[in-house]
Amino acid sequence: MPDVVAIGEALIDFIPTIPGKGLANTPAFEKRPGGAPANVAVGVSRLGGKSGFIGKLGRDEFGEFLKKTLEENGVDLSAVVFTSEAKTGLAFVTLKENGEREFIFYRRPCADILLEPAEINKAFISSSSIFHFGTVSLIEQPAASATYHAVSMARKAGKLISLDVNLREPLWPSLETARKEIMKSLQLAHLVKVSEEELYFITEIKENIDAAAENILKMGPSVVLVTLGAGGCYIKTRKYGIKVMGFEVKAVDTTGAGDAFTAGILTRLVEENVTSPQELETVSQEKMVDLCRFANAAGALTCTKKGAISALPARTDVEDALKRLS
Ligand code: ADP
Repeated sequence: MPDVVAIGEALIDFIPTIPGKGLANTPAFEKRPGGAPANVAVGVSRLGGKSGFIGKLGRDEFGEFLKKTLEENGVDLSAVVFTSEAKTGLAFVTLKENGEREFIFYRRPCADILLEPAEINKAFISSSSIFHFGTVSLIEQPAASATYHAVSMARKAGKLISLDVNLREPLWPSLETARKEIMKSLQLAHLVKVSEEELYFITEIKENIDAAAENILKMGPSVVLVTLGAGGCYIKTRKYGIKVMGFEVKAVDTTGAGDAFTAGILTRLVEENVTSPQELETVSQEKMVDLCRFANAAGALTCTKKGAISALPARTDVEDALKRLS
């Protein structure tokens, strides 16, 4: 039975053979498995944890490819469903010359959006310790209702709820809707991973990471982890706020770094027996910093290879890096 269950989108990322040119000027793309919650599930498994995935895959070659990839990586797929009503979703992703990330999504409709509340496997959620979700599956129906339904089941069962605020601006009908929906989801989470940019967007507080993270704590979560790219991350709880430095690497593609970071945190929480909202509140500052160093190393290593799932590090890679780079 999985310790960490992630719900949401599994899709195909198309990444450029030559990065940094912008999508319009990219001559060719490589196909890579992706989708943030699927990446987290694989990430946990690579780091030595037991993970499961809940989602809907297209009954097409890309859906088969995702199934095979997740299976090969030891992710429990017993709660995954398939559909012929829509194809597996696609995302073309690259960096522009100015370093900004650029996306084109092919999603309306796509298989993961069609996940229905009635398709959520309650026993699968009950058997786990940590339940992880992101905000992409909250954008369209019926996946949004299915996700909220699953979160509600997990909360009722006393699970630790982890949320990745994965703002993908072009997917939302408006930024106002995005902010409103993300705020709603934050109220359901105990542990939140958010990038600095996303944090300022949601809270409408600028350039004050501690004040902005404090604002998130007021919505309900007890731990907010703000990812800072090469800078590492910032931990905010009701007792303290502290920055944990990142690791210096030669970054070739940062896709999946945030998911590797999340996987690192969740894997270590399970190992430390922190599997309930109450236990999360009692984790010491020292322990949380240690977990974040591990997660920063996992994130940094992911940046050294192309793609998301294909770049997620194994446990030994992270441990070696921690020794080498400390
Ligand atoms: P997200 O993908 O959620 O936007 P980030 O890009 O901030 O998140 O990356 C997540 C984590 O991965 C960071 O907190 C950091 O630990 C690590 N990381 C990201 N980019 C780099 C980089 N260029 N060099 C080293 N570590 C990085």
